[in-house]
Amino acid sequence: MSSAKTVRAACPHDCPDTCAMRVTVEDGRVIRIQGDPDHPTTHGALCTKVSRYAERTAHPDRVLHPLRRVGPKGSGQFVRVSWDEALSDIAQWLKAIAAREPEAILPYSYAGTMGLVQGESMAMRFFHKLGASKLDRTICASAGSEALRLTYGGKVGMHVEHFAESRLILIWGSNSIASNLHFWTFAQAAKRNGAKLICIDPRHTETADKCHQHIALLPGTDGALALGLMRELIVGDWLDHDYIARHVEGFEALRDKAMAWTPERTAEECGISADEVRQLARDYATTKPAAIRLNYGMQRVRGGGNAVRLIALLPCLTGAWRHRAGGLLLSSSGWFPTDVTALQRPELLAGRTPRTINMSTIGDALLSGSSPSFGPKIEALIVYNSNPVAVAPESPKVLQGFQREDLFTVVLEHFMTDTADQADYVLPATTQLEHLDVHLSYGHTYALINEPAIAPVGEAKPNTQFFRELAARMGFAEPCFTDSDEAIARVAFRGDAVSFDALKAAGWIKLPLPEAPFAAGGFLTPSGKAVASAPGLEAPDYLPNYESVRSAPELGRRYPLAMISPPARNFLNSTFVNVTSLRAIEGEPVLEIHEGDAAARGITSGAMVRVFNDRGEYRCRAEVSPRARPGVVNGLGIWWRKLGPSGTNVNEVTHQRLTDIGRAPSFYDCLVDVAAVP
Ligand code: SF4
Repeated sequence: MSSAKTVRAACPHDCPDTCAMRVTVEDGRVIRIQGDPDHPTTHGALCTKVSRYAERTAHPDRVLHPLRRVGPKGSGQFVRVSWDEALSDIAQWLKAIAAREPEAILPYSYAGTMGLVQGESMAMRFFHKLGASKLDRTICASAGSEALRLTYGGKVGMHVEHFAESRLILIWGSNSIASNLHFWTFAQAAKRNGAKLICIDPRHTETADKCHQHIALLPGTDGALALGLMRELIVGDWLDHDYIARHVEGFEALRDKAMAWTPERTAEECGISADEVRQLARDYATTKPAAIRLNYGMQRVRGGGNAVRLIALLPCLTGAWRHRAGGLLLSSSGWFPTDVTALQRPELLAGRTPRTINMSTIGDALLSGSSPSFGPKIEALIVYNSNPVAVAPESPKVLQGFQREDLFTVVLEHFMTDTADQADYVLPATTQLEHLDVHLSYGHTYALINEPAIAPVGEAKPNTQFFRELAARMGFAEPCFTDSDEAIARVAFRGDAVSFDALKAAGWIKLPLPEAPFAAGGFLTPSGKAVASAPGLEAPDYLPNYESVRSAPELGRRYPLAMISPPARNFLNSTFVNVTSLRAIEGEPVLEIHEGDAAARGITSGAMVRVFNDRGEYRCRAEVSPRARPGVVNGLGIWWRKLGPSGTNVNEVTHQRLTDIGRAPSFYDCLVDVAAVP
């Protein structure tokens, strides 16, 4: 007799939508995965990627058993070993290093799962107890996150549902159709109700196709555009003086700075027309309610943090926050009462203050020797929920670091990724269908539960279980190292608003928040005001700064094309690249190039090209396309290196320089040239 059951789940991927899922299981096999039709932001629909989650989970290439390296690093020569052997050996290595220098051990993880249990709970407890180096988790969002903290006091914004009532939506730095699909549903509803949609993005994305207008500014000039808009708001007297007086700190100082940005100067800097600047300002100021859906793509440039500060101030100057369908959304994760202390137990550090290594400069870090400024050389690396060899910038250095024969590397993974290839041990990790978790979201305001649907595949273990068992072998005796996943999930959120039992019963819980959170101010800053300029921010004037993208003309002459590397539509960072049906849709790595730039180089659509600069080169197929604006090429990512035509990917040419705020990588400040491969 059939034993079909449906399990409540949540999508774990690094996507603002955090969909609620229903997983149907029959005889221990997943037979269907659907978006939950009752969840108010999922609307019963999953994206193409996660609709294939059963295919990914049952993929014949899953790592099913612990593997130990037997050949040279990167040779792909591994033998199957038992968990017992792997854990004992890893514990021995770590004990030996920790006895000399615990900071020589480094965790490396990011948002391979966004779950609070399988992300940074037991893992962080383990590394705190060990006294390992800390990891600054900056690779995606920290410039924008820090900018929001400076301006609003936290990662907070509008409810995504209310975009449906907006009359004007600026979709800024976001290809929503590809990477924020459920926001797009609300934007479409607004469009049907007569709202105007304006896409601001260097690339003519699939989202730009569906908007009323596309403003194709040069990468890295978003801050200049925001300053130009501010000037027009001032000159047109479109400011909400009452809102500014009550709820904005330091605007007078910013006013003088903004006044220098005439439409002509703004247009020249951004590579657009002065009329576009004027009209955008008029639309934004006079259409109410007006909302901005900002996304993280635009902050992956040197000036990304200050650009977010400037854009985040726009709805404060027009008083757009007064209406629930006005304001801005970059992240909502700061609304959640996440109990980081209970999850991660920092008291296990026992007064030690290990150094912090920035994940965005892992290439340089792995190649650094011991020194007074750096501290001890990194001797051991434990990687989970991440694939740094593919996704970290300047991958020639990252790969060289991972290939150090004196580096001991453990990788928890589902598949043999570019990073797993370089490991000493590859350990099979469970997927979202095989473990328990609870989730917040950075694109909506519902907490969710993920119940395990099936037993772990092969010998896979949840991350928590790996660290639990390793802790036991290390002799860590604190009771928190025996907490079950449910015990961890129960302490993930503070207070009563989001209890585990209620999550288990309902699947998700909407946070109790005001409809229009800043209608009467009440920002999360110390003053309760949105902050334009305040003592304690960046000297000399504590104002958001804008530095021209044309500040290195010599480099611009050698490498005249700006390259951005947004995700290919059917991949999510480097996840899903090995799912056959999705890779079949993408075909092969592609560089979109404008017809003028292509003609100047004798490049035709379909030609194999090399994309190069001083750091390296990678090869891919050129697509002469109106999606690329003149002077900018779009290297769609993030392919696994080993699946690219020359065994490299787009990060072969990106660099490790950091953003102005938040210590994040500036992937999209990347100058290159392109040539046809004969
Ligand atoms: S990747 Fe995003 S859109 Fe797709 S299912 Fe997950 S949360 Fe939903």
